Amino acid sequence: MQRIVIVGAGMAGGRAAVELRKRGFEGDVVLVGAEAHRPYDRPPLSKAVLTGRIDDTTIPLTLDGVEVVTGRRATALRPGTLETDGGPLAYDGLVLATGSDPIPLPGDGPVRVLRTVDDAIGLREVLRPGLRLVIVGAGWIGAEVATTAAAAGVEVTVVEAADTPLRAALGAEIGAHTIDWYARAGVTLRLGVAVERTTADGLVLAGGELLPADEILVGIGARPDLGWLADSGLVLDRGIVVDEYLAATWSGVDGPPVVAVGDCAAWWSRRYERRLRVEHWDCAQHSPSVAAATLLRAPGPGAAAADSSTDAPATDAAVYDPVPYFWSEQFGRMVQYAGLADPDHELIYRGDPREPEPPAGTRPPGWSAGWFTADGTLRALVSIGRPMDVAPVRRLLVAGGTVDRKGFADLSVTMKELVAAG
Ligand SMILES: Cc1cc2nc3c(=O)[nH]c(=O)nc-3n(C[C@H](O)[C@H](O)[C@H](O)COP(=O)(O)OP(=O)(O)OC[C@H]3O[C@@H](n4cnc5c(N)ncnc54)[C@H](O)[C@@H]3O)c2cc1C
Repeated sequence: MQRIVIVGAGMAGGRAAVELRKRGFEGDVVLVGAEAHRPYDRPPLSKAVLTGRIDDTTIPLTLDGVEVVTGRRATALRPGTLETDGGPLAYDGLVLATGSDPIPLPGDGPVRVLRTVDDAIGLREVLRPGLRLVIVGAGWIGAEVATTAAAAGVEVTVVEAADTPLRAALGAEIGAHTIDWYARAGVTLRLGVAVERTTADGLVLAGGELLPADEILVGIGARPDLGWLADSGLVLDRGIVVDEYLAATWSGVDGPPVVAVGDCAAWWSRRYERRLRVEHWDCAQHSPSVAAATLLRAPGPGAAAADSSTDAPATDAAVYDPVPYFWSEQFGRMVQYAGLADPDHELIYRGDPREPEPPAGTRPPGWSAGWFTADGTLRALVSIGRPMDVAPVRRLLVAGGTVDRKGFADLSVTMKELVAAG
């Protein structure tokens, strides 16, 4: 393999370049990104960048000997050739790291999204006391922006189609415990309200009501842009379909090896025996090392002609099989989630989720909740302001095993002790 092209210069793309070099690849590495920026971190955009604490979240990556091409968008893919808006690029190994894009709302009103550093700085510049900001979606982004905007004196209304915030991510029961957080921050939360379309004056809600707004932020989720890959021959299904080694498949053509990483990859999870695609920083951070190893091991087109230095067999250690992990900072609380819960799991609480208003100047005590299977296995954890519960549970979820359900609810026993007791 002589020339590896990486499409998408975000966290996952940048990390892929580093991993290729770390694994001794000496050929050309070209990192192509549509944005004008070198790889930067997105989680701070809705936190420290929006509050004005920082402007620059560039990731300190060692990209020596990597050709970084910014402001260049890939437009089509064929075996061996990547078409871009700046001309074609040949490759004999390809990493797809194109992330995901905000889902748009219908309508012709001017709206904002929050995906890029330019979006974040643009939004920050318009936040001022008295501004009527309507946020569509009470998910992670909606909650984080509402937190900062309300603290800046903005009149914030959050409109959510579901009956609780965070319903898709954490389920209705946990989501319901966050409803009060909005009111306490002075944010108006309208649940069960669908939006029909945006207009120049505000939002038209289902039923015809016009909700006036000076600014509208749409935060109803993200999905990978696969349009440019539609005719490529790569197998796609709401993401770039990859196996447990993060290798993509050409259908009907014999193409060079392709891997996918980060938000755009829909990988086969051995652990959960299903296809997963998660939009978590942790995945963008860790999937590239597995993908780089896969790519460097892969035989080129026409397997019989493979170079013997690159055809080492895959081992289980080379499998990408994480326990999903995500965090969010909202309404003065650190929210962390690890694992994968199913709707039929039983929820057990550790601490009181009703959270009485804490005395002024103090933090709420925090609580966690675990999702257990019928046979008593802990499958997922959400923690609100109790980071000490998270690390032991993440280790447990990765290694397998469980904790005693009664002990889980007992705050006098630390989670570390509980996990150690098995
Ligand atoms: C505001 C915000 C806050 C977040 N907060 C958290 C958090 O608190 N915790 C957490 O776990 N996760 C958080 N996330 C999610 C996390 O940032 C993402 O999972 C992570 O950025 C994914 O990295 P990626 O490299 O896969 O994709 P991206 O970061 O999206 O990078 C993909 C890059 O590819 C480029 N690209 C796309 N298409 C093309 C093309 N055709 N040609 C060339 N380039 C292309 C894009 O322009 C982009 O620069 C947050 C995300 C956002 C937007």
